[in-house]
Formats: sequence, C-alpha cells, structure tokens
Amino acid sequence: MTLKIAVCGGGISGLSLALVLKRFASPEALTLDIYEAGPVFTEIGAGITVWHRTRSIFASLGIEEALKNRVVSPPFTLRKSDTKEPFGFHTMDIPHGSMALPRIDMIKLLVDSLQIDSTPWLHVHFRKRLESYEQDATGVTLRFADGSTSRADVLVGADGIGSHTRKTMYADIAGRVAEKRPDEAAAILQGAQPTWTGTYAYRTLLDAEELRAVSPENVLLSGGYMWCGNGQHVISYPISKKWINFLVFDTIPGGLGKPLAGPSVSLASKDELTDLYKDWEDDLCVAMENIGDLSKWAISHIRGLPQYNDERVALCGDSAHAMSTHFGAGAGQAIDDSYILGRILAHPSITADNIAEALKTYDAIRRPIAGDVLERSLRIGFLYEFHPEHVPTGTDLEKVRAGDRAELRKIADELQDIWRFHWEWMPERDWERAQVMLEEWL
Ligand SMILES: Cc1cc2nc3c(=O)[nH]c(=O)nc-3n(C[C@H](O)[C@H](O)[C@H](O)COP(=O)(O)OP(=O)(O)OC[C@H]3O[C@@H](n4cnc5c(N)ncnc54)[C@H](O)[C@@H]3O)c2cc1C
Repeated sequence: MTLKIAVCGGGISGLSLALVLKRFASPEALTLDIYEAGPVFTEIGAGITVWHRTRSIFASLGIEEALKNRVVSPPFTLRKSDTKEPFGFHTMDIPHGSMALPRIDMIKLLVDSLQIDSTPWLHVHFRKRLESYEQDATGVTLRFADGSTSRADVLVGADGIGSHTRKTMYADIAGRVAEKRPDEAAAILQGAQPTWTGTYAYRTLLDAEELRAVSPENVLLSGGYMWCGNGQHVISYPISKKWINFLVFDTIPGGLGKPLAGPSVSLASKDELTDLYKDWEDDLCVAMENIGDLSKWAISHIRGLPQYNDERVALCGDSAHAMSTHFGAGAGQAIDDSYILGRILAHPSITADNIAEALKTYDAIRRPIAGDVLERSLRIGFLYEFHPEHVPTGTDLEKVRAGDRAELRKIADELQDIWRFHWEWMPERDWERAQVMLEEWL
C-alpha cells in the first residue's frame, strides 16, 4: 500500500519536505500532493541566512553545490551604533561560516531540484487554500476554500504563521476537552494563536552601488552588521553582489505578548526610520536616506505550542513555531522540521496504520529544539538592544550604554554563546535519536 501524503503550503517547509522525500523515500511507497494557496511558488521578502546546521541538510539533499554559486558569506560584526562615535566591538566567530541569499533563489532551487514534471508520485495544486480538515480512523479529509475536498493518509500543515491546519488541529484538541474542562479548552485555543513579540521590523533591500555612489566608505558596504544600541537595533548583510538586506527594528517597551494593534504588514515611509534613528551613527543615517520601498512587519511568534501533531496531522515550519527574526533561524528550523519529518515518512516501516505513532516521534524530537531556538531568537534581539532583564548577570548597563568595551564584551560573549547552536548540534544527530525512538515505538 502506498502512503498518501498531503502537504498544505508550498513555502520553504513544504518544498523542503518534498525534497527530503525525493531523496530518502522509495518512489513506490508514497504519493505526495502539495496544495498551495497561491498561483505559483513564490516568496515575499528579501534575504535569508542559513548556517552550518541547515547546510548539512542541503549537503545530504545534494543541493549544497548548486547553492554555493548563488550565495555570499559575510562576516558578522557587532557595532555600538547609537552614537556619533561608533565602533565595532566584536566580530562573531562562526565556524563553517554562514550563507546568505535572496529568498526567491532558495525557492527556485528547491523547485528546480524537485523536477516536478518528471516525478510521477508528486502532484502540485495551485490556488488550493485549505480551510479545514476532518480526521477519522482511516484518513484525513481536506476542505478547500473553493469547496472541493481531498483525502489523504496524513496531512502536513506547512501553511505558515496563519496556518489553517493549526487552527483546525487546536479547535479539535480544545473540542475534546471542552465539555469537562471549558476553561482549559479556552486556554488551549488561546495558546495556539500568534502573539506579538513587541517588535516591528522595517524591511528593504539596499542597492550596494547606489549607496557606494553617495557614501563610498560606508561601513554597511563591507560585510554583515548588527548595529546595536539602547532599545533599538538594525541588521544588514549582503545577499548578492548587488543587494544588501536591511532590517530595521523598532521595539516597543513592554510589547512582548501584548495584542497587536494594527495590521501585521503595511507600507512605511523612510521618514519613520530617519526619525527613529536620527541620533545613531552617520553611516546608518545616510543609508536610511537612500532606501526605496519599505515594508513594516509586526513580528509575531507561535510560542510554546504544546504539540506539533494530532493523530494523522502534523505542523511543520512557521505553522508550528513562527519566531522572531533576530537569530536568522526561522527558515533553518522549517528545514530541520522537514528533514526529520521527511525521514520519518520515508522510513520503510511507516504505513497508513501506524502514522499517528510515527508523528509522535516527530513531535518529541523537533518541538523541544524549535522551542529553544525561538527563545534564543527572542533573547538575542533584546541583547542587541541592551535590555536590562536580558543582559548577563553582573553587567553594568550604564557602562554599556556609555560604550565601555569591557562591559560590551560581556554582551558579545553571551551572544557568541547563544549563536553556537547554529553549528554545534547537527540535524543528523536528531535523526539518529528519532530513528531509535521510532523503532522502539512501532
Ligand atoms: C522580516 C523577516 C525576516 C526573516 N529573516 C530570516 C532569516 O534571515 N533566516 C531565516 O532562517 N528565517 C528568516 N525569517 C523566517 C522565515 O521567513 C520563515 O521561518 C520561513 O519562511 C517559514 O517557511 P514556511 O514554509 O514554514 O512558511 P511560509 O514561508 O509562510 O510559507 C507558507 C506557504 O503556505 C501557503 N499557504 C498559506 N496558507 C495556506 C492555506 N490555507 N492552504 C494552502 N497553502 C497555504 C503560503 O502561500 C506559502 O506559500 C524571516 C522572517 C521575517 C518575517
């Protein structure tokens, strides 16, 4: 019997999952239907950074070489920038480097590598927006916004932060406890909603040549930077010879966990930025004067979801753990999910009858790691901004704000320590643990 897999969402997670299945599953053992809400595979936004952990997955999928021609690997330096006398205070030590590239290139590479037209077990359906699903003892019925339905043995919700798969899953879970414990049911539903991190990110791309023409010596042109300061920060790094990814943050004190007032994405004017950052270092102010289109994102996350699976359904990527952007890890974590889930689904002993047990392994392996990365990401953002409750114990904040290098060193050491995750704990080890667990449980 073939395993009939449905994936909702053709973003980084959904496409990576398909590629993991292509690499590791026996083609006779499964069919895969990708249902994508949009008319094509695409990506909103600019650049993406991935690290050694994710690159090791790319190597096992055979796409590391193809990526090498499309990426840049900038060094990342921390700067004290909320002053007219700025300085760099630490260049991050990144064993194996990092890889930055335009998001759309990442999507194109995944799509090209899938060779969809010559992969008979893979079917792609565009303009198919999942509304909800129902499970029974033998499968899952998917319901789409156009009124159509489809049936599968297993459903993977790779449908991003606004996931309808997650909404349905948690409505089901809450529904099962509602009669006996209504308060608990309400808390379950509430806990599955995205919450605001208290941060807005202004996103744009800078044209390196245009910036060079007006500011030839601008620091921004020489690598990746975390521009740190009291209560705000900026991230910039090249994603190609032409483009520099430019992310400017506005952190609202006490905003973490508060309901979001206003839209999650809107257009913004550069005047908002120049006003916010007028007292910061000149190179940054000049760059802000030279930006074009700008979008403003209210950064929300899905924090502490209690399970990524329910019977025959699993959540993958942002639908399970959308996170703040400070650690450059959201896409990497989506790819990690896809790797572990894909290897589980490709395991020769998995069938439509034991799939629910198999998905428990996925949850047990991935949820603690992704939850930890989400917390690291949040903390990093606060460290870049010298928030009192997040700096290491014993740090003299007055001295940090005044630019004392010894005190800034404490923050740099803490950041360096948090960043270790990117290269020290490899997904292959997670898969080895998953395999042992899977074989014990089945
Ligand atoms: C400002 C910003 C900067 C970032 N920078 C980085 C970075 O440098 N490095 C990094 O690793 N990560 C970064 N991230 C995070 C990264 O973008 C996400 O973690 C990643 O895109 C998640 O991929 P995904 O496939 O899970 O979700 P998505 O990319 O959201 O894809 C979901 C897909 O599902 C489709 N879909 C949605 N609803 C439905 C439905 N109901 N039915 C069918 N299809 C549906 C969508 O059209 C989309 O194609 C950043 C995020 C932001 C907001």
